[in-house]
Order: sequence, then structure tokens, then C-alpha cells
Amino acid sequence: MSAVKDIVVLGAGLAGVTSAWYLRAAGHRVTVIERRTGPALETSFANGGQISASHPEPWANPRTPVAVLRGLGRADAPVRLRLGLDAERWRWGLAFLGQCRPGPTRRNTAAIARLAACSLAALRKLRHQLELDYDASECGILHLYFTEAQLRHGRRMAATLAAFGFPTEVLGDAAACRRLEPALSWAPGLAGGLYAPEDESGDAHRFVEALTGHCRQAGVRFEFGMRVDRIATRGQAVRGVHVTDTEGRSGLYAGTDIVCALGAESSRLVRPLGERLPIYPLKGYSATIPAGPGAPRLSLTDELHRIVVSRLGDRVRIAGMAELAGFDTGIDTTRAAAMLKRALVLMPELGDAASPQYWAGLRPATPGNVPIIGRGCVDGLWYNTGHGSLGWTLACGSAELLSALLSGFVPAIAFPFWNG
Ligand SMILES: Cc1cc2nc3c(=O)[nH]c(=O)nc-3n(C[C@H](O)[C@H](O)[C@H](O)COP(=O)(O)OP(=O)(O)OC[C@H]3O[C@@H](n4cnc5c(N)ncnc54)[C@H](O)[C@@H]3O)c2cc1C
Repeated sequence: MSAVKDIVVLGAGLAGVTSAWYLRAAGHRVTVIERRTGPALETSFANGGQISASHPEPWANPRTPVAVLRGLGRADAPVRLRLGLDAERWRWGLAFLGQCRPGPTRRNTAAIARLAACSLAALRKLRHQLELDYDASECGILHLYFTEAQLRHGRRMAATLAAFGFPTEVLGDAAACRRLEPALSWAPGLAGGLYAPEDESGDAHRFVEALTGHCRQAGVRFEFGMRVDRIATRGQAVRGVHVTDTEGRSGLYAGTDIVCALGAESSRLVRPLGERLPIYPLKGYSATIPAGPGAPRLSLTDELHRIVVSRLGDRVRIAGMAELAGFDTGIDTTRAAAMLKRALVLMPELGDAASPQYWAGLRPATPGNVPIIGRGCVDGLWYNTGHGSLGWTLACGSAELLSALLSGFVPAIAFPFWNG
């Protein structure tokens, strides 16, 4: 075993709590610091629920710039840009454009696919080991296409996924989709689909809550209601973090190692150390409603409107939209309602939409959607952050890799580690 370390994990979302679990399992002493009153109350709270290993292609791909231009000015456009005068937003936007070229898209897809495969295996192992209950479904994900061009892309994607070892089935027309998922019987305009039977879905918030309980039992300490203000260093190494509690009392948490898992806030914390993490918040929305008789069994992705629909026990979650608009978590109900309306067009008996629970969250997005896992700019500083649109899909694998790196072991897969 490697030397036991005193590790402070910053943030109790998917990335932070899974990191805490694997680090404790490796024998380290672990404390998690979180500003909210419990785990997974920010971006990991009400996401789309998909464990979509079959979707390794990042949003930065050659088709995206045209799709963004087409949606300009439309309230229901999947992507909305509010560039304003924020230099950081412009820098991120330009870097995103750079990642839309074919070469970076191929490299990013490969890195995400490898990580997704290892993450799915890790999640399954953890679920069985701990008997975690989080409205998990192992029915797979069906990607829905509405044009012949999309269906052709689906066929290419099936070949790419096969090369990474993911089995998929191309459904060449609407009838084939409806046979597999009868809830789509009234869905208009369907051209076909791509079914990924290995994919899963589940409630990320319930998962993190359950794992937090197991972490506690295993000896991980959680400090909720504690804001991290800055990282304390001595020379070129970390020595802890300065924190403030809800009463305004400040103090220092000492640690030999710090894991930054602060989601969209990660880059702000490490900027004073001279580190520039290319993470920017990408806002999305979800709507949760009680499931109706026509709720789908499979998790679905409408590839035209970029929304996902997942059944979570007796609820249905509809999620999507991407807005480059800074750290604002306000809910634009017109856009959130447009998403729900689209889901009801596909499946009129999806659920009771009388009083949906709308939610907005900030994806911690890197330009190429490849998370930042690895060493920071000073000794003892580590990152597990920047998981963008796939933080639930990639959580367990990322945390396992981080734990291996920090413990001095060889990570299970080749990955473009930060400062690797
Ligand atoms: C609409 C939407 C749909 C999505 N759907 C999916 C999906 O279907 N599948 C999928 O794989 N992914 C999905 N995602 C992405 C996924 O939810 C995120 O990638 C993931 O939740 C990020 O987890 P995290 O732990 O990095 O960040 P967070 O969950 O935000 O955790 C960071 C934590 O750090 C804390 N924090 C921040 N600053 C401080 C500070 N100074 N001091 C103390 N604590 C601090 C925060 O309170 C927070 O709890 C979706 C995201 C959105 C928005």
C-alpha cells in the first residue's frame, strides 16, 4: 500500500463524494468540505440521470457551430450564447470553437469513451458492493433521430462505439423505435434511432446521498456549511485550505493533499495560485414530473432538440439546454417549459405536467468536454473536475483514476491527465 495521506476533498458533488470513497478505500484519511448543507445540492442535484457511455462525442464537434447559428434568437434553441463583455467567456468560447475541428473531436471522443467504459464498470461494481438504491435502471439508452442526416450520423457513431467495445443497435425507422419503446407510439417525425443496451440511468442526487452514508461509515469526515476561501501553501506545496463556516468563523483545514472537486467553481479557487483551468459554467435545465402511464421504460435522447428523458422510479426527468451565460443559476421558465413541451409532444402520456419541478444547474464544462483529472500546479494539489455534460456518466471512473494517481499507482487506462 502507498503512504497514508491526510486528504481534504473540496466539494461534495458527484466528483467530490466519489473521490472521497475511492481515496478512503485506498487507505487514506479523508475530509470533505462543502459549503451547502448536504451533498449534491448543486449541479449533481437534478441532472438528466443518464449514464451515457454511448455518447462519448463531445458537444464541441464539427456539426455544432452550424447548429448554434441556426438556433440564434429561438426560445427553444438547445444552445444559447450570451457572450457579453466577459473576457473569460470569450476565451472559453473560442477554445470551444477550436475543439470543434475533426482532429480534436476524434481525440476527445476517444479519451471520453475510454473513461466512460471504465466508469460504467466501476459504477456497477460499487452498486453491487454497497447495494446502492438510487432509482437505477439498466434498460439502456435510445437515441432518437429525426432526419436522414442524423440517422446516417447514428450509423457512423455505431461503428465508432463498436471500435471502443460498446455494443449498439441501429434502428432504421420509426417502427423499429416504437417496437423497442412503445411509449413512442405517437412520436411524430421519427427517422430512426440508436439503441445502447449497456447504458443506464438513475438519480445522481440519491446516489451521492447514499454514497455519503457509506463514506461516513468507512470513516470519511464531512464538513457541511463550510466555504473554502483559498488554498494555503508553504513554498511549492499545499498545507491546507482556509475556510469560513455559516457563522462567519474562519480557520485552516490542514492536509497533505487537496482534491479540488468544486465543479464550475474550480477555476476561481486555483486562479490565485497561477493555474488557469479551462472550466466555464454551461447552464442547463431540468423538469421533474410524476410518471404517467405512457412514461418510457428506456432512457431517451432526442438528438434534434438535445433533450434527455429518464424515468427515475415513479418520476420522469426531462433535461437539456446549454447556455453560456456566466454563474447565473436563474431559471428561464420559457426555456425549461419548452423542453417539457417537446417531451410531451413525443410522449403525450409521459406524466402529470400540472406542476413540474424546474431546476437549473451549471455544468463545469471544459472546451472539449474532457474532464480535468491529475496534478495541480503545486505539490499536493489534485483535480477531479470539469466533467461538463457527463459528470454522472464519468464520476466513478474519474474518482478511481484520481485515487490511483494520488496513491502512486499506475492508472487503469491511458488518459490525458492534467500535468500528466
Ligand atoms: C441540465 C443538466 C443535465 C445533465 N445531465 C447529465 C446526464 O444525464 N448524465 C451525465 O453524466 N451528466 C449530466 N449532467 C452533468 C453532471 O450533472 C455534472 O457534470 C456533475 O453534476 C458535476 O459534478 P461536480 O461534482 O463536478 O459538481 P457539483 O455537483 O456542482 O459539485 C461541486 C460542489 O462544490 C461545492 N462548492 C463550490 N464552491 C465551493 C466553495 N468555495 N466552498 C465549498 N464548497 C464549494 C458546491 O456547493 C457543490 O456541491 C447534467 C448537467 C446539467 C446541468
